[in-house]
Amino acid sequence: MSAELATCLTTDLVAITRGRSFPAEALAGYLKRGTGWVPANMALTPFDLIAEDNPWGSAGDLRLLPDEATRIRLPNFGLSPLHLYFSDITELDGTPWECCPRTLLKRAVAQLQAETGLSVLSTFEHEFQILGANWPAAPAFSLAAMRHADPFGPDLMALMAEAGLEPEMFLPEYGQDQFEVTMRPADPLTAADRSIAMRLLVKELAAQRGWQASFAPKTAAEGVGNGVHIHLSLRDAEGNPAMRDESRPGALSEKAGQFCAGIVRHMPGLMALTAPSPISYLRLQPHHWSAAYACLGECNREAGLRICPIATLGGGDAAKQMNVEFRATDATANAYLALAGLIMAGLAGIREGLAQPPLVNKDPSEFPEAELNAMGVRRLPADLPAAMAAFEADAMLGAWLPKTLKNCLFSVKRKEMSLVEELDAEGLCARYKAIY
Ligand code: GLU
Ligand code: MG
Repeated sequence: MSAELATCLTTDLVAITRGRSFPAEALAGYLKRGTGWVPANMALTPFDLIAEDNPWGSAGDLRLLPDEATRIRLPNFGLSPLHLYFSDITELDGTPWECCPRTLLKRAVAQLQAETGLSVLSTFEHEFQILGANWPAAPAFSLAAMRHADPFGPDLMALMAEAGLEPEMFLPEYGQDQFEVTMRPADPLTAADRSIAMRLLVKELAAQRGWQASFAPKTAAEGVGNGVHIHLSLRDAEGNPAMRDESRPGALSEKAGQFCAGIVRHMPGLMALTAPSPISYLRLQPHHWSAAYACLGECNREAGLRICPIATLGGGDAAKQMNVEFRATDATANAYLALAGLIMAGLAGIREGLAQPPLVNKDPSEFPEAELNAMGVRRLPADLPAAMAAFEADAMLGAWLPKTLKNCLFSVKRKEMSLVEELDAEGLCARYKAIY
């Protein structure tokens, strides 16, 4: 006989999901009072070594308070059944901890709603690679590539559906043994929770088969990148689509144009949250279909922010489909902070009534420098120190992210960089693919 466990989950600054478990039958008490947690856990690097100059050291205690509505019961698929609860981090008296990423996302959503009446629908689209399967090579996007993984795809879709993640697609991607999974859009908190649950399921299901699933931004220096694309669309106070106006450039409504302008303006500084690892910058190169430029493009896979295509065939509703995709992020980013930062940047754009950025509809690196300058298109930071400097120079981001959390993030990132400074690109890939 063994007990069915429930786990309070939290995801930290290096996007590692951690937690504490208890017998599920004792849930009622934990829903009220949570489990213990330690502030300095937030200062862990991906390599388990802690950033010594963190704001807390050995002092302090917190609670991990499970959000009952997020319950996912993982069935027995080789591992024991497990109840997952995404949790907020609180002080011992239940007040939200100022450094809780999940709470910061809730606040960003509430602030957007309070100031503009708008809400966001979001979904995280993930790419990953299966390592260690030793399949014969198969062409990119091919049926053969999908079928040699079989029944991984169908099993994953079933497991995700059972967990309530609303899976949409499982597809073979361009890279070696690379796949992509998409889910239906949802409110931002749900979307971020689901992205974390999805990665856990993919990794566990792959491990069951003796493979490793890796979401690392790159698993080989010359290989294809694994992106995370965050889709965003706006809804008005009545819940109706508020993103589309066919009379305007890119068919973006005025508010959506301002929202996008905010994201494009703050994109360099946001990278400290969305592309927060040394290895992130191996992926974010021109000609990688990732995102090397802070710009808005219509159906352009080299733009940091891409207006996604609208398929009107079969009676497809254009207003409902209208969404943009933020491409300059990866699985080393904390999903809550990345999305919260995007919402705060978009909100700043609306608040200031920023002009919609020009549409860059071909690879920005093909434009002469002078033309890029004339359009106000900037190259994104080319490495993590540059992203951190851009964050420091961004007053809006600095005013929004609590100082303590920002200091912790920067300490962690400095320590992380020091731990990998000797590694070349291949070494970085080896190090990060083992973890993400
Ligand atoms: N693999 C690309 C990336 O790193 C994305 C390719 C695509 O457009 O799906 O973001
Ligand atoms: Mg893709």
